[in-house]
Amino acid sequence: MPTESTFLLAGLFLLLAAAGWALGRFGERDEQQGTPPPLNIDYLKGLNFLLNEQTDQALEHFLKMVRVDDKTMETHFALGSLFRRRGEIDRAIRIHQNIIARPDLPAEQRDQALFSLAKDYLKAGLLDRAENLFVRLSQGSRYQVEALERLCRIYEQEHEWQKAIDAGQKLEVLSGRSLELQISHYYCELAEQAVTKKEYIAARAFVKKAQSGRARTLRGALTRAEIARDTNDIKTALRLYHRIVDESTYLITEALPQLVDIYRRDGSTDKLERSLETLLAKHPEIKTDVAYTAIVNNIGGIRVIDDCVEEYMLNEPTLTDFIDLQTIGDGDSEHRATAIHKVRAALCKLASNTPRYQCKECGFSSQRLLWQCPSCKDWETQRPFTSVRFDSVLQRSSPTT
Ligand SMILES: [Zn+2]
Repeated sequence: MPTESTFLLAGLFLLLAAAGWALGRFGERDEQQGTPPPLNIDYLKGLNFLLNEQTDQALEHFLKMVRVDDKTMETHFALGSLFRRRGEIDRAIRIHQNIIARPDLPAEQRDQALFSLAKDYLKAGLLDRAENLFVRLSQGSRYQVEALERLCRIYEQEHEWQKAIDAGQKLEVLSGRSLELQISHYYCELAEQAVTKKEYIAARAFVKKAQSGRARTLRGALTRAEIARDTNDIKTALRLYHRIVDESTYLITEALPQLVDIYRRDGSTDKLERSLETLLAKHPEIKTDVAYTAIVNNIGGIRVIDDCVEEYMLNEPTLTDFIDLQTIGDGDSEHRATAIHKVRAALCKLASNTPRYQCKECGFSSQRLLWQCPSCKDWETQRPFTSVRFDSVLQRSSPTT
């Protein structure tokens, strides 16, 4: 089967013939001598390769026949870009290298070819080579902004956060765009790297940089709380986790389990009960968030949280379609507690197999909170679901006809 590239090259060969390239241009010498131009031998060879579906050899012939000059430059760029888009990266690279090899190439077109080649390397996953070219272009070319944008992506992929900060700050200046949130996440990444190495002084300094003078990311408070917890500064950890829960932020799903854990270790869950009671009296709307967080993290045995879970179960329409919870609720207290416990355990199991977070920009969903969406690459766009995703469970269990 001829590939798309075969057709593409065949089209180009025909265009060249139509434009007189294969006959006229290569026959200039003969024209000057007053004889009709012969059919160019390379042209025939190229066509022969195409007829035999030998696309690489046909491409080599195309490159040999058609020198890169002012008239053919755009054709070369278009061909390279088409090959890249079709995933034929080796061919795209070959074409762009061929352009760069031209000795008298004007600076602007050299930069264009280098930028195209860097994009080829990026698509091929050759990040080091792509990085080198983007760094060169970011130091002075009309591709500075685009090169810095791509460098940020490369450094994010490679977890080179300090380099990402440097590129991001340069990009802010050159583009006039604010990258505050993105850069503060880069600092949080550095802080988390330091936490894993138990370098808490460095970690605190990075969080401070993440938060100073930048758009506030809630991640900073969560990371600070984590550092405080790991360094036994329980008072600070509690203050920060409480702030996240009390302000009714979406990170209640991450902070509440930590609060429960700290109070349990201290043997003072009654303090948590009192604080949650006050909070829920003021903001009854967050009962669902508390219930869902308790279900997915299997938190039980704290009365105020258990009440939220029970209320959630009795009001979840999909659940009440399957189980007569009201009847269960009317039974004696022991029977009732056992029944509620069973349903709750089943919900916890379901929740552990369904997505818990979803990107509000592109819909990508995941089990774990991801600060950068792997799909659209935006930062801090994931939000927790506030109920068990019965729809995805039902979809998976329905027959695929
Ligand atoms: Zn997304």
